[in-house]
Amino acid sequence: MFHSIPTEKLGPLGEPMAKAVSACVHCGFCLAACPTYHELGQEMDTPRGRIVLMKEVLEGKMSFEAAQPHVDRCLGCLACEPACPSGVPYRDLISPFRALAASKMKRGLLERLRRFLAAQTVPFPWRFRLAAKVGQIGPIRRMTPRFLKPMLDLIPEQIPPAQSWAEVNHAIGEKRARVALLTGCAQQVLDPDINTATIEVLTRNGVEVVVPRLQGCCGGLAWHTGDLAAAQRFARHNLRAFPDDVDAILTNAAGCGSAMHEYHLVLRGTADESRAESFRHLVMDVSVFLMKLGLREPLRETKLKVAYHDACHLANAQNVRRQPRDLLRAIPGLELLEITDAHLCCGSAGSYNMDQPEIASSLGEQKARAVMATCAGVVVTGNIGCMTQVAMHLKKLGSPVQVKHTMQVLRDAMLQSL
Ligand code: SF4
Ligand code: SF4
Repeated sequence: MFHSIPTEKLGPLGEPMAKAVSACVHCGFCLAACPTYHELGQEMDTPRGRIVLMKEVLEGKMSFEAAQPHVDRCLGCLACEPACPSGVPYRDLISPFRALAASKMKRGLLERLRRFLAAQTVPFPWRFRLAAKVGQIGPIRRMTPRFLKPMLDLIPEQIPPAQSWAEVNHAIGEKRARVALLTGCAQQVLDPDINTATIEVLTRNGVEVVVPRLQGCCGGLAWHTGDLAAAQRFARHNLRAFPDDVDAILTNAAGCGSAMHEYHLVLRGTADESRAESFRHLVMDVSVFLMKLGLREPLRETKLKVAYHDACHLANAQNVRRQPRDLLRAIPGLELLEITDAHLCCGSAGSYNMDQPEIASSLGEQKARAVMATCAGVVVTGNIGCMTQVAMHLKKLGSPVQVKHTMQVLRDAMLQSL
C-alpha cells in the first residue's frame, strides 16, 4: 500500500510500522481469519481496515482518537499474519502503534485507573496473589465498581497455594541439555503446577533447568497495551537476569514467549537492541524444545480423549502448532481431537477480557461450546490466559471438561496412569 508516513519523525519504531503498511496490498484474504470481523462484521474491525486507519493516523490525516476504538478492539491474536499471502508483519504495526497512541492521547479517568491497577498487579506475582485473594472476599467483590468487575471475573474461585522452585533443578540420569525457564507472573499465581510439571518433564528427560531468581515479568502486558517504557524496563531486566550459558530460554506460556520474541522491537533503537536480538533467538516454547530433544522418559498408556486448543500466541505468533500435538500423540492410547474453528481466538488475549469484556465473553463462550462439541474429557493448551478463559466459560456452561497445560498432561503420563 502506498503511503507517506514520515518515518523519521516517529522514532525507532517508525520504520517497522511503515514497512508493515507498505506490505499490505489490500486483498482482504485476512478478513475471514479475524475474530473481530467474525464478531462485528465491519471493515474497520478487520486487519485490512485497521492497517488503513493506522496509516491515516501515521500520515497525520486522522486523529488517534478517531482510530482508537477499532485499534482497541484488535485482540493482537495475529490470526491475520498466517492468513496473509503478502506476509504483512502485523505485529510490527499494532504494538508500536499502541505505544505511539499512548504517548499522544489521554484516555478517560476510569479507563486509566483500570489500566493502572492491572499494570501494577498482574506483572508482580505477590501483588497479584494478594489482589486475587482480596478480590475473592464476598463483600469486597460486591462493592467493586462496575468498571473493575471484568478483572474480578477472571479470578478463579480457588487460588492454589504458592509453589517455589529450586534455582537449579538437576537432570535425572544422563544430562542432555541445560535450559533456563521463565516462570511467568500471572501463571505462577493462577496455576503454579504448570511450572512444577514443566520442570518434572524436563528433568526426567535429562535437562538441567535453571530458574533465574531475578527474572521478572516478560513485559507482554505492557507491550500490548502501549506502555513502551514499562515493556522496555521488563525486557532489560530479563536480558540481565537470564544466563547466556544455556541451550535455550524456555517459556511455557504462549503470551510470554511471544513477548520475549519481540524484545528486539521493544528495545529497537536503544543500546540493548543487539543483546535483545541474540536473546530472542534463544527463546523457545517448551514443546518445541522437547520435540527437538526427543522424549526419553517412558509414557504410560491412557484412554484420555484430549481436545487441543491452539493458543494464538503459540500458533500465530510463534508458528508452534505441530509440536504440542506431537507430544500429546506420543502418549500411548491418547485420542487427540481437533476443535472446530480452531483459528478463532478464545478472547483471552492478555488483558483483552478486561478491556473489551463483551467481545471476549462472546469468543470465550464460542470456544467453550466448540470444546464441548468434541466430547473430549480434557482440553489442553499452552497458555495460562487461554486456560483461565476457557475454564471460566466451560464452568458457566456447566461442562465437566477439565482444562490442562500440555506439560501437565505429559507429566501425568510419566508419573501415573491418566
Ligand atoms: S491479507 Fe495481508 S495484504 Fe491482504 S489485506 Fe490482509 S493484511 Fe493486507
Ligand atoms: S490481530 Fe487478530 S483481531 Fe487483530 S486484526 Fe489481526 S486477526 Fe484481527
